[in-house]
Amino acid sequence: MITIAEEIQANLQHVKSDLPEGVRLVAVSKFNPAENIMAAYEAGQRLFGESHAQELVPKAAALPKDIKWHFIGHLQTNKVKQVVPVADCIEAVDSLKLLQEINKQASKCGKKMKCLLQFHVAEEETKFGFTIDECRNVLESQEFKNLDNIIIAGVMGMASQVTDEQQILSEFGEVAAIFGILKQDYFKDSPDFKEISMGMTHDYKLAIKKGATLVRVGSGIFGERMYANIK
Ligand SMILES: *Cc1c(COP(=O)(O)O)cnc(C)c1O
Repeated sequence: MITIAEEIQANLQHVKSDLPEGVRLVAVSKFNPAENIMAAYEAGQRLFGESHAQELVPKAAALPKDIKWHFIGHLQTNKVKQVVPVADCIEAVDSLKLLQEINKQASKCGKKMKCLLQFHVAEEETKFGFTIDECRNVLESQEFKNLDNIIIAGVMGMASQVTDEQQILSEFGEVAAIFGILKQDYFKDSPDFKEISMGMTHDYKLAIKKGATLVRVGSGIFGERMYANIK
């Protein structure tokens, strides 16, 4: 019989074999216990994604220190303090207020925090993210320019949960276009501004077609999440 660890490792290899050069995998380990993460780690994976501070913090403390953690969830300002010391990148930033709090906590840790700007391109109103105009207002503000402990490393987006591939492709195309506009207008001279994080288990292949540099795959590696196991 095949063990859970072997299944995770086989899934991981399968996903990785789909990734062209230049596209990195964020293995989304939320709701998974440490032993599942270790199975992926032992197969060589070092970049993981978590979306809740209360899960990320104990996992980061318990697991090997060469793991890089991306915080991919919607981050509340009161959780920033817990996340900044352990995260390599905060992927879903969508307000000046959040950037200011991240900057404050990063400065306390003597760290420059990599952040991605999240854009709202899906049809669902419930999803988070900037519009391009909101983002321009932030990037042009003096308050933003004062944030010395923030590195804007690119953009992040999620497509609608639909089966229509054309719609998904068009939404990912929008994220990539926004990246191009921001690069041109604000980050021309910034080598740090280079990531386009988009694509999950059901749509990462489409995201790659539209230029993703980071894909965030969870259930396609670890299996369906068993929310009931998490207290
Ligand atoms: C959970 C999650 C993922 C991974 O989703 P899967 O469908 O399991 O691959 C990717 N991105 C974000 C922001 C998530 O919250």
